[in-house]
Amino acid sequence: MKVDTVIVGAGSAGLSALREVRRYTNDFLLVNDGHWGTTCAAVGCMPSKALIEAANAFHRHGAFEEFGIRGADALRADIPAVLARVRKMRDQFVQGPEAVPGRLGDRAIAGRARLLGPGRLDVNGETVEARAIILAPGSSPVVPGPWRDFGDRILTTDTLFEQADLPRRIAVIGMGAIGVEIAQALARLGVEVAGFDAVEALAGIDDAQVLAAFRPLIEAELALHLGAPAELEDAGGAIRVTGAGGEVETDTVLAAMGRRPNIGGLGLETLGVPLDDKGMPAVDPVSLRIGDLPVFLAGDANGDRPLLHEAADEGHIAGRMAAPDAKRGGLCRRTPLFITFSSPQVARVGPTLSDLGDRDIVTGSADFSKQARARMAQSAAGILRIHAERETGRLLAAEMCVPGAEHLAHLLALAVEGHMTVADMLAMPFYHPVLEEGLRGALRDVAKGVKGAGGSDLSDCQAIGHDALD
Ligand SMILES: Cc1cc2nc3c(=O)[nH]c(=O)nc-3n(C[C@H](O)[C@H](O)[C@H](O)COP(=O)(O)OP(=O)(O)OC[C@H]3O[C@@H](n4cnc5c(N)ncnc54)[C@H](O)[C@@H]3O)c2cc1C
Repeated sequence: MKVDTVIVGAGSAGLSALREVRRYTNDFLLVNDGHWGTTCAAVGCMPSKALIEAANAFHRHGAFEEFGIRGADALRADIPAVLARVRKMRDQFVQGPEAVPGRLGDRAIAGRARLLGPGRLDVNGETVEARAIILAPGSSPVVPGPWRDFGDRILTTDTLFEQADLPRRIAVIGMGAIGVEIAQALARLGVEVAGFDAVEALAGIDDAQVLAAFRPLIEAELALHLGAPAELEDAGGAIRVTGAGGEVETDTVLAAMGRRPNIGGLGLETLGVPLDDKGMPAVDPVSLRIGDLPVFLAGDANGDRPLLHEAADEGHIAGRMAAPDAKRGGLCRRTPLFITFSSPQVARVGPTLSDLGDRDIVTGSADFSKQARARMAQSAAGILRIHAERETGRLLAAEMCVPGAEHLAHLLALAVEGHMTVADMLAMPFYHPVLEEGLRGALRDVAKGVKGAGGSDLSDCQAIGHDALD
């Protein structure tokens, strides 16, 4: 078979690429191995957030007494019902992508694709020749080989949401964004959770001050063992997990130690370009092109930015760059934006503080443990830190663990993307009483250190010194 463009993988990156490819040709083939629901909708972003919403809703009962609402002790989480709701929502979310092969007819093939060279693939035993190839095969959870001996007592996010019920005890190994989100949600639903990580980090937080504020908040809800690799051994019916600070017996382990690009068996070695020790070729970060070939690697599979919006953007870029008349180069990437859906949420906008290195920056912060609106909601906690260029006041980056971080981070990302300065942002309207007033507090703190600040327009208004207004 001969076609113009082949797309390997019908996840968020592959489907986004498809939209662009269809602008220049109908002579394409979309090849997908496994389910068509996408990782995001089937086992990733969507079911995890559906679980977190249920866990947070139940967790609120802990604040009822303070609100003056009695009888909270009688509430209980019906875990099978919680999980059934997650699956019901998941089934709705996957409907869109699952309908794709039906709409594409013989342009969509279920099966595994393997490269035979720069312009050739094997698909279900048939050779397909293509002018351009977009590879978007996604990633899979990492599970150390020996752990597989524990059978179904080792869960990953691929299997967690399929459980009919949850055990009394779960150890979550890996405290990155996914591990922290799920560990806290399970703890909030009443599971005895222990969280392990080889390093002293949580949710990928880079800024030591944000981590210092976040750690005790998580530690109040689950036992943390950070700073040594976790080892597992069979303890009769239980699993003994040994890590930093000792050992814990658990019923089940959730392996959340990251995800590995699905490049094994993809045939990248046939492309004739150098591969690193993990079998990964060099991928141009702006065009996603491999070497000088009409072959592109997009989404989780290139291991660069394993997030939904980045996978969709990368599919878009690869689809554009694969066009026969595409100009060499690439497309601009957006301001980096990361959110962990913990409580409080963790978010980062722009480069990390470490990546800002020795740039001349000024940093401002706001302590959300005193933020008036958050106090009303019994959710006051955390810190927001914003970094700007000292010379110009231009906003560069922010990291935070605060209530409503998903929204505050979007505001900051809009500002960074729009090249706004601290003064520009302070000149924007702020309503009252809102969490955004905490953001304004951090901006005012930054403004104090910006060169030449101190004019007389509204953006330079100082804090009033009144709890309810600042
Ligand atoms: C629990 C969890 C929570 C997450 N939460 C968030 C979140 O809140 N926000 C966020 O931005 N991101 C989140 N993510 C990440 C996000 O889901 C991924 O970045 C995104 O789904 C990756 O899309 P993709 O197209 O690269 O891969 P996928 O959607 O995995 O698509 C790849 C497809 O290619 C197929 N395939 C693989 N190999 C072959 C082959 N050789 N031939 C043919 N087909 C093949 C696969 O079977 C799959 O169907 C989360 C992920 C997980 C696991």
